[in-house]
Amino acid sequence: MDCLFCKIIAGEIPSSKVYENDRVFVFRDINPQAPVHMLAVPKEHIGSADEVTAENSAAVAAIFEAIPKVAAAEGLTGGYRIVSNCGPDACQSVKHLHFHILGGKQLSEKMD
Ligand code: AMP
Repeated sequence: MDCLFCKIIAGEIPSSKVYENDRVFVFRDINPQAPVHMLAVPKEHIGSADEVTAENSAAVAAIFEAIPKVAAAEGLTGGYRIVSNCGPDACQSVKHLHFHILGGKQLSEKMD
């Protein structure tokens, strides 16, 4: 499968890894939108939030267990934002489910 994030997880494309366990990979966004901007992805290929099912949702739970750990390790004591773009209206550009973790500054109240 020609998937950028699958290649990053496999180590075929370099990334700035922040955290990894058997289900989850977290790395720094190449084009950061905040002082801390990480992407948390399932190792299993899931195309987007639209493809989450009862069969694969444990991968999503594993991501949400990992997020507080990486947020604490990055010193995001003031809070952070989690965003997942799903589909063209949301400008999803990489078709592998990912959660942006943004922080390290006062974020805008605007969500779009
Ligand atoms: P989205 O637009 O929600 O699909 O987010 C995709 C994100 O992947 C963007 O924020 C990109 O900056 C980021 N991105 C694209 N290629 C890479 C890469 N090679 N390493 C790290 N982040 C990347």
